[in-house]
Amino acid sequence: MCRVIAIANQKGGVGKTTTCVNLGIGLARAGKRVLLIEADAQGSMAVSLGIREPDSLNMTIVNIMEKIINDEEIKPGEGIIHHAEGIDFIPANIELAGLETSLVNVMSREMVLRLFISGVKADYDYILIDCMPSLGMITINALVAADSVLIPVEAAYLPVKGLQQLIKTIGRVHRKLNRELSIMGILLTKVDRRTNFAKDISEQIREVYGNQIHIFQNCIPLSVKAAETTAEGKSIYLHAPKGIVAEGYHCLTEEVLSDEK
Ligand code: ADP
Ligand code: MG
Repeated sequence: MCRVIAIANQKGGVGKTTTCVNLGIGLARAGKRVLLIEADAQGSMAVSLGIREPDSLNMTIVNIMEKIINDEEIKPGEGIIHHAEGIDFIPANIELAGLETSLVNVMSREMVLRLFISGVKADYDYILIDCMPSLGMITINALVAADSVLIPVEAAYLPVKGLQQLIKTIGRVHRKLNRELSIMGILLTKVDRRTNFAKDISEQIREVYGNQIHIFQNCIPLSVKAAETTAEGKSIYLHAPKGIVAEGYHCLTEEVLSDEK
């Protein structure tokens, strides 16, 4: 059975892409078949996976979604790139912004990504979708295609308002478009272990959301090593295997895997 996880938060810079890449590669290292789909026009997942100029790619998730919209055939494996660290991925680029605008006039516009994913599900154990920092139509497509949502939250301030809006949107998608959708949990990211401030935020988030939403036991520490991986085009497991961020993502991977049982 394939699990489709959307990694979403309409706030940028909270660690969505970093989590998508390193949880995805973590799952692949545990023997799982993994596909990462970028649903963000910024193309930062593509860059993190070694593509220097995503905007010059001529096959991305945009072309795939356009084919679905136009009822064109998608060949097995079309648009899918194999990465040296054992995952498959489909990048995005700036053209996704244009697609988002043109989706307005498309029949079943919320279902486009879901339709594509249902065709490739049999080949994977996990499909992770790296969402963009907005709650627009592309993110709705990701939520409609997903079984669950992982919400990275930066432990920098108490993000009450933004989180409530996100939870509301997930609830709406659940009621109207995707009865299978649930919230997998909140993942605290960029936790500065040296300060009590981060600890306070973590505790407050547990207090405010803990009885409503699962909060992952493991959080991801703040470390310059994580920031460096983006430019390196490889995972934290290769870049700094003994560091605290590799350990954090390894533990998160175990937690996600234990959820299978
Ligand atoms: P998002 O996808 O939510 O916009 P990113 O994963 O791109 O967030 O992360 C935003 C920035 O923060 C990037 O420059 C990334 O390298 C950096 N970053 C991510 N996780 C960490 C971390 N644990 N410690 C330090 N920097 C991080
Ligand atoms: Mg991102």
